[in-house]
Amino acid sequence: MNTSLEIGKVMGIPVRLHWTFLAIIVYVGVGFGYLSQPIFGIPYGFGSTEPIQVKWLYSFAFAILLFACVALHEMGHSYVARVYGISIRSITLYFFGGVSSMEDVPRNPRLEFEMAFAGPGVSGIIGLACILLYFQSSALLGANHPFTVLLSTLGIVNLILMVFNLLPAFPMDGGRVLRSWLATQMPYMTATNKAASIGKMFAILMGIFGLFSGGILLLVIAFFIYIGASEEERATTINICLEGIKVRNIMSSDVHTVPPGMNLRELTDLVFREKHRGYPVAENEELLGMVTIADMWRIPESLRESTTVGDVMSRKIFHIGPDEGAIVAMKKMTELELRRLPVIENGRLVGILSREDLVRAMELCSGGGNLSGGFMAGEGQASLGKPPEGREYQGIGIRLVSLIIDNIIIGIIIVVIGSMVGFGMMAQEMVPWWIGLLYFVIYIGYFALLEGSRGQTIGKMITKIKVVGEDGKPIDMNQALIRNLLRIIDGLFAYLIGAILIWRSDKKQKLGDSIAKTVVVKAEILIS
Ligand SMILES: [Zn+2]
Repeated sequence: MNTSLEIGKVMGIPVRLHWTFLAIIVYVGVGFGYLSQPIFGIPYGFGSTEPIQVKWLYSFAFAILLFACVALHEMGHSYVARVYGISIRSITLYFFGGVSSMEDVPRNPRLEFEMAFAGPGVSGIIGLACILLYFQSSALLGANHPFTVLLSTLGIVNLILMVFNLLPAFPMDGGRVLRSWLATQMPYMTATNKAASIGKMFAILMGIFGLFSGGILLLVIAFFIYIGASEEERATTINICLEGIKVRNIMSSDVHTVPPGMNLRELTDLVFREKHRGYPVAENEELLGMVTIADMWRIPESLRESTTVGDVMSRKIFHIGPDEGAIVAMKKMTELELRRLPVIENGRLVGILSREDLVRAMELCSGGGNLSGGFMAGEGQASLGKPPEGREYQGIGIRLVSLIIDNIIIGIIIVVIGSMVGFGMMAQEMVPWWIGLLYFVIYIGYFALLEGSRGQTIGKMITKIKVVGEDGKPIDMNQALIRNLLRIIDGLFAYLIGAILIWRSDKKQKLGDSIAKTVVVKAEILIS
């Protein structure tokens, strides 16, 4: 949590710097000190600024001003939100831009549009203003004066910031603009799904472009966009799903209450036996208060025998009705920092809702499918979010072993083919480009052909795992090809990207899996 530093408040909103942003200031300061690449004849970068002290002074001043511009961009969002009465918790600046954290992102297309557009709007205005001032300064101080260069560079960067943020990809502002527009044409969830898939497509294209142009920063940004798009989709799904669920559907109606006259020794025994962290205190079906382990532990051991629950319980009772929404309950619990809420109907205690109940509901929601139906009826819970036919999704460890085996085999194949074509002896620089392409085709082809035809590579056969569709059916050649072509992204940084995605995903899917709709499961049970 403590990865960001609060630097002050603007309009009453705390502005924080994430450590990655501090790193980017150095990166930008150094980068723009070397850069000199006029755009349409307008100077961009301090590469030709002299003398050297002035160059670095201006370059780092530029980096700090750029950070101020990003903060202003975020202020643009916050200002519109404020006008609509939404409160902003904080603004955090990360290396890829700012993020405003606010309560209740509204599900109102017009409002979302205005809010999303305000940030790039601010960047655009700053950009244009700087360019206009650049022309003034150019006439007054000369085109090569460092101050003139500062204005033009800031202007160009802000315009780039505007365009970049308007990319129609979550979590970019453009993704929100796109969703708000789509939401006027179709249901909100469909609009979110559409906008998220467009965002993912964008991220993949950007990643491929970054890969071939060697732009590491572009690759990292592509990765963040991909994660951001998935996250937005997930959050929206959960929210919409929870909205359809009432407290009654997820609470535990089997409530154990304790009488106020029970002493703390007895309560300790009960807590150890039933492993509950707290109990409602009731007498004659009337709720008097709540008692938790924490209340109990405040009393020294020696006094617990003589102290009753009634002495230590909290009498301030927050409760909720069974017909209120799960979302309302979640907000109440978050705001009041409660772990459990008694559910009261007509003055009677009918159940208790714990954070665990809510988390379980959210897990079911993110499992996809027709949730609220099965959920409400209390059926089909087991099948939600579970792998096909009860098989287990396979994680990073075994898949890594399988991958290493496959890589060794491919290595052997390539060496054999290489020596047959006669390139094995050549120095790396001498190898023609098409040989590189051939190796790439062999690499991807090995995986795609084997998985497409039998669901397993040799590595997967040895480790007894298998690729199947999300529905448990064998995959076709098409899926195998998509799944494996995307190794060019999953395989980045020695498969770090794939590993992170598998680790973060409910179904342990890397990028190739989520696009091709495939999962990796244990192989044995399949032969039934
Ligand atoms: Zn923005």
